[in-house]
Amino acid sequence: MIKTDMHTHSSFSSDSEEPLFEMAKAAVEKGLSTLCLTEHQDFDYPTGEFMLNVPEYQKELFRVKNEFSDKLDLLFGVELGLLDYDAPRLSEFAQSAEFDFIIGSQHQIDGMDPYYPGYFDKTDDKNGILHFFEGMLNALKVFDDYDVLGHFDYIVRYSRAKSYDPIDYRELVDEILKTVVSKGKGIEVNTKGVMTLGYPHPHEFVLKRYKELGGEIVTVGSDAHDKTCVAANFDKAEQVLLDAGFKYYMVYKKRKPEFIKL
Ligand SMILES: [Zn+2]
Ligand SMILES: [Zn+2]
Repeated sequence: MIKTDMHTHSSFSSDSEEPLFEMAKAAVEKGLSTLCLTEHQDFDYPTGEFMLNVPEYQKELFRVKNEFSDKLDLLFGVELGLLDYDAPRLSEFAQSAEFDFIIGSQHQIDGMDPYYPGYFDKTDDKNGILHFFEGMLNALKVFDDYDVLGHFDYIVRYSRAKSYDPIDYRELVDEILKTVVSKGKGIEVNTKGVMTLGYPHPHEFVLKRYKELGGEIVTVGSDAHDKTCVAANFDKAEQVLLDAGFKYYMVYKKRKPEFIKL
């Protein structure tokens, strides 16, 4: 059983109302040994939201960490929105606090979040997904200060078909994965996809391709925004990792990976 949830949000993220304490309590109740909070920081977000108050977040996290110190390893992480045009600002943020873990996630393209209908109103599924992957690759070419790439193909959840065949994007998928591997970064298995797509992000083809290209570093996260979703569908994550030939997953502390046997 995977006992480490490396992608979660609390009320310090603009799209969650769950107190951080409740997330930690739920993790203990679900038998986890480690929980990493990864609150959102997205510069230039169209609505102006998702600007993290790091000092307040850090203060509360360490208060709760102390309270749960005998039951749970609570980690201080962030989900940092990737941008291809301002890597220095992202790096400055990444270095501004002693984070345990940084997920780099593509949430914006052309000043839009594909989560909102506007993005796919302007394009068909194929080109919308293609353009999103191009943006991700451009961002990863210029920015290094993250540990794992977040929810690789989450954009598919917002497309019309809500499904895709990664083989149609093979060249771009390969280039993204090669960039991740060559820079010593990892990817995550994000179980939030299970509810809409029936499988975690990324698609198993992508996960297997990552392994073929030499990728070893994987973390597992629920992307829970409330306590009920902590560690949701982790049995699925374990299965897809084993099927893809992985023997380990990782926990990050102070930005260093530790291997845990599956
Ligand atoms: Zn995200
Ligand atoms: Zn998230």
